[in-house]
Amino acid sequence: MKFAIETLGCKVNTYETNVMIDSLENIGYNQVNFNDLSDIYIINTCTVTNNADSKSMKMIRQAIKHNPDAIIVVVGCLVQTNYDLVDTIDGVDIILGNVHKSKIGEYIQTFLKTRESIKKIEDICNVEFEEMQLNNFNKTRAFVKIQDGCNNYCSYCIIPFARGNVRSKKPEVVTNEIKELIKNGHQEIVLTGIHTGSYGVDLDNYSLSKLLTEIVKIDNLLRLRISSIEITELSDEFMNILKNNEVLVDHMHIPLQSGSNKILKLMNRKYGIKYFVDKIDKLHSIRPNMLITTDVIVGFPNETEELFKETIDTIKTINFAKIHVFPYSKREGTAAAKMNNHVDPVTKKKRTRELLKLSKKLEVETMNKYLNKTLEFIPEIYKDGYLIGHAGNYLSIKSEGPKELLNKQVKVLIKEIKYPHLVGVLIDINA
Ligand code: SF4
Repeated sequence: MKFAIETLGCKVNTYETNVMIDSLENIGYNQVNFNDLSDIYIINTCTVTNNADSKSMKMIRQAIKHNPDAIIVVVGCLVQTNYDLVDTIDGVDIILGNVHKSKIGEYIQTFLKTRESIKKIEDICNVEFEEMQLNNFNKTRAFVKIQDGCNNYCSYCIIPFARGNVRSKKPEVVTNEIKELIKNGHQEIVLTGIHTGSYGVDLDNYSLSKLLTEIVKIDNLLRLRISSIEITELSDEFMNILKNNEVLVDHMHIPLQSGSNKILKLMNRKYGIKYFVDKIDKLHSIRPNMLITTDVIVGFPNETEELFKETIDTIKTINFAKIHVFPYSKREGTAAAKMNNHVDPVTKKKRTRELLKLSKKLEVETMNKYLNKTLEFIPEIYKDGYLIGHAGNYLSIKSEGPKELLNKQVKVLIKEIKYPHLVGVLIDINA
C-alpha cells in the first residue's frame, strides 16, 4: 500500500508525523509524495490560526481530488477542536484527534477489513502522555517530543483546547530515545513540545532542568536545542545548567508576544516587560553570545497606536536576532475572542509589515556581527554545490563544499551576507 502524509503546524506535529511514518513503514507500507497517486492520504492538521484551519481543509479536499478511492485520514488539532468542520467534507474515512496517532496503522488495517468509517476523539484534558519514540528522524536535526499540552490558557490561544493538559514523557524514555538518535548519526537534538518549558510539572518532583541535567551527560551529543521556552521558565537552576554546558546551543526562542504591559495583562501572559528584560540581561551575562529569537502578536484587541509603539520600543531595547510576527487571529472559544475593540484588518496588516521590517533590520544587524568571524555549522542540505545548515546560534550558513560533509560539523570563515544566509569559506572539515 502507498501512503502520503501532509503535515501542517508545529515541530510537535512534525515529530508525530515521523511516528506515523514509522508505524506505517513497519507494516510494509511505502511513503509517496502527497501530490502523487496514493492509496492512503493522511492530513496532520493545525488550528493555531484561521489560516491554519483553511489550509488544513484545503489539503483534505486536495487529497480526495488526487484519488477519490483512496483512504482519507484526518488527524490532529483541527479535528480535536472543530470536528464538525472536518465532518462537512464527504469522503473522510478515518478521523483521529490528538491521541492515537501512533496507532494509525491499526486503524487503517481495521478500516480495510470493515470499510466502516472510524472516529476517535478523546477528552484531551483527561488523557495520559501517548508513548511514542523515534530512533531516526527525516531531518539532520532530530526533534524529540518530550511533553504535550499546556495549562497556561493565554487569552488568544486555542492550543490548550486542542492539546489538553500538560503531560510529560518519562525521563528515562527521553534519554534512551536521544541515545538511539545519536547512535543513528544525529548530531543535533531539538527538544520540543507544546509547552516545552513546563516539562515535568505533572511528574513527581521533576522539571525540565532535571531532565537537562541527565541529557547533558549523554556521550557524543554534539548540540542540544530547546525549541521554545517561556521567560518564566528560566529559573536559576536552568541558568546554571546553561552556564556550565556548552552542548546547549547559543540560541533561545523566547516568546514576548507584546511589548506593552497592558496588552500582556489582557493576553494573560505571566510576566511584565521589566521582568522579561531583566531575565534576558541575566541570560546574556552568563552566555554573552546567546542569540534570542521571539514571537510577537500584532493587532491584539485593544492594541492602540500608542501600545503598538510600546511594543516597538521594547523590542528595540531587547535586541532580538529575529521576530516571528503573527497578526492576531480570533479563535472562537478563547477569552480574547470575547473582548471588545478588535483591531481592523488594514491596521493589523500595516503593523505586521512594520514589525517584519524591523525584524529584518535586526536580523541583518546580527548577521553583520559575524563578517570575517569563524562559525561552526552542521550542513543539512546540499544544493548546487553548496552546503546549507545552521550554526549553534541558529544563523543559516551557506558554503561551497563536497556533499560528503552533510551532517558533519565544519568550521567556516564568514565572508559575506546573502540573505537569509551567511556565506562562508570552509576552513576546517573536522570541527
Ligand atoms: S503558553 Fe500560551 S501561547 Fe503557549 S501554548 Fe500555552 S496557552 Fe498557547
